[in-house]
Amino acid sequence: MFDVIIAGCGPTGAMLAAELRLHGVRVLVVEKETEPASYVRIVGLHVRSLELLAMRGLLDRILPHGRRRPAAGFFAAIAKPAPKDLDSAYAYLLGIPQPVIVGLLEEHAIELGAQVRRGRAVVGIEQDDQGVTVELTDGEQLRSRYLVGCDGGRSTVRKLLGVGFPGEPARTETLMGEMEVGAPQEEIAATVNAIRENHHPFWLRPAGNGVYSVVVPAAGVSDRAVAPTLEDFQQQLRTIAGTDFGVHSPRWLSRFGDATRLADRYRVGRVLLAGDAAHIHPPIGGQGLNLGVQDAFNLGWKLAAHIRGWAPEALLDTYQAERHPVAADVLDNTRAQMELLSPEPGPQAVRRLLTELMDVDEVNRHLIEKITAIGIRYDFGAGPDLLGRRLGDVAVKQGNLYGLLHRGRGLLLDRTERLTVGGWSDRVDHLTDPTAELDVPCVLLRPDGHVAWVGDDQQSLDQHLSRWFGEPAH
Ligand SMILES: Cc1cc2nc3c(=O)[nH]c(=O)nc-3n(C[C@H](O)[C@H](O)[C@H](O)COP(=O)(O)OP(=O)(O)OC[C@H]3O[C@@H](n4cnc5c(N)ncnc54)[C@H](O)[C@@H]3O)c2cc1C
Repeated sequence: MFDVIIAGCGPTGAMLAAELRLHGVRVLVVEKETEPASYVRIVGLHVRSLELLAMRGLLDRILPHGRRRPAAGFFAAIAKPAPKDLDSAYAYLLGIPQPVIVGLLEEHAIELGAQVRRGRAVVGIEQDDQGVTVELTDGEQLRSRYLVGCDGGRSTVRKLLGVGFPGEPARTETLMGEMEVGAPQEEIAATVNAIRENHHPFWLRPAGNGVYSVVVPAAGVSDRAVAPTLEDFQQQLRTIAGTDFGVHSPRWLSRFGDATRLADRYRVGRVLLAGDAAHIHPPIGGQGLNLGVQDAFNLGWKLAAHIRGWAPEALLDTYQAERHPVAADVLDNTRAQMELLSPEPGPQAVRRLLTELMDVDEVNRHLIEKITAIGIRYDFGAGPDLLGRRLGDVAVKQGNLYGLLHRGRGLLLDRTERLTVGGWSDRVDHLTDPTAELDVPCVLLRPDGHVAWVGDDQQSLDQHLSRWFGEPAH
């Protein structure tokens, strides 16, 4: 009997497993594939994800594998510099191959004690009042108290639950792969530059070891479960560029579409959905993996609280209440960005106008804060602007705040030196520091780094400790 079974060891599942292990939850991750994905998709980790990784002491481990870029040019690929003084100690983009980030997160989860079983998929689920029975491909049946479907856009768990996935189907599809080429580099560069004026997305770029990364629009929308062939690439290159550049010897071939969908519900009883299983959208702006990792951060401590027995009644439902609107907003911004990439005169005129508007610092900042997810403010009710927002990595007497959040507990950051976390001290740390870099007397942070309370009054603090951390232990 496990506490939680996670279907899928992608970035979302691996991150969730690690978050649950911080609280001693018995976790099994079931992954359909026998080996981690071999295709190298470079993804961008945005500011909020970098902050979360720093909060768990993982960033230093991940940084050497990636490449830092300015936090700019994300929105519809409109080239503008990063806004001035972006409010984060991690104000950059980290470009990193997806298999590397998944591998590091899986390794971290295993170090913390998560079990990962590869080569078997979840094919059946049945839930009752006590737990969930999970059936795997080989017929084995496992039992857990909760199941989380982190099994990607085609999620079996979501389908088995019968959760609706409304939205728009794919209208276009893009082929993506790595292969060798026969044509000289200069000739490729000249042709690609000419074509990119009209075709989004299209590129052939050296990817190291004599291999080129090739991206080309597909002939139409097909069944994405089937991998494309080298002939598909050759034919599309010839159609669009007039030559197939002599491509041969593929390393891997893949395809992706621009379907945009959001699950109706993130929870049905003891089964929850996170990451691409709950939302899909085109990769413009590079937000999907970031969104999934941030789902995992929001869900992990709440699910752990239920399993440890101290969760307030409605805590688990705040997962959907907080994360569903965030995903809806990401879907909307990708819809807007896709329109801005259209070569039609109308969208191109709007693009020119937005390009002008982005010279206004507030506009540029708003868009970057949206894509990097540092602008998120959860609705925790009336209160100061900081309530519901994430707190940056402010300076405290021990160094930096995020260095104190590695264990995934709550934290009272107290400049008044007269408050206490009392009977919640088994779940919430208390740091008294009159010099902390805050312009409010005191903040209560949830384990995901969002501000759950701002004030200086013990009675009000106790109410909010109860709201987020349940009944005091004594
Ligand atoms: C071209 C491209 C570029 C992108 N660039 C970015 C970017 O720059 N930044 C960004 O944030 N995002 C980017 N994304 C999106 C990102 O890749 C996804 O959002 C991310 O992989 C979602 O992670 P996940 O863990 O939720 O799902 P997945 O990565 O799909 O992982 C799901 C896992 O579940 C497993 N699985 C499936 N079914 C079962 C089952 N029944 N039982 C057990 N296991 C199962 C799968 O094998 C897989 O390992 C990009 C996507 C594309 C296509």
